[in-house]
Amino acid sequence: MRKTLYIIFTIIIFGYSSSQSFAEKRQLESHEHGVSKLQIVIEKNIIQYELEAPANDIVGFENSPKNEQQKESINKAINLFKNTDGLFTTSSKANCRSSKIDIEFEVEGTHAGFHAKWNSKCKKISELKELTTMFFQIFPKAEELEVQIISEKSQSAIEWESDTKTIKIPKIHN
Ligand SMILES: [Zn+2]
Repeated sequence: MRKTLYIIFTIIIFGYSSSQSFAEKRQLESHEHGVSKLQIVIEKNIIQYELEAPANDIVGFENSPKNEQQKESINKAINLFKNTDGLFTTSSKANCRSSKIDIEFEVEGTHAGFHAKWNSKCKKISELKELTTMFFQIFPKAEELEVQIISEKSQSAIEWESDTKTIKIPKIHN
């Protein structure tokens, strides 16, 4: 049964992604400045995060670094991202611990972006009710996070605006 569910999920995720811009994540040309994408997949006690942010929102430019200052800005941003516990925090009762973040700076044509992936293992995933972020405080050019939350129970899309610190996570288990 588990296996079947999992397969169904994969199909849903895949099907959904291909109709949404997540499938085009490498096509930076189509991104919208101010808008980052956060995909959250919750399976059992693991939360997987994938974030796509226009480089304009993070470092203020979208090209391969041209000088030391730009190189430094990119490294600084990467280090900020690596502190994922500070960027996104879950309900403390859920007792989640994040893995190391895998992050890349990518340039494509006249656009560039940051692509980050990490996961979080939770001792009490049933207590996962909220997600809080410092993303908008740390990166003031970011205006919105388009969030997709996919779990065994539901799939939802949330527009997380910069004036909101915390979002509710829909019920994730049956
Ligand atoms: Zn751009």
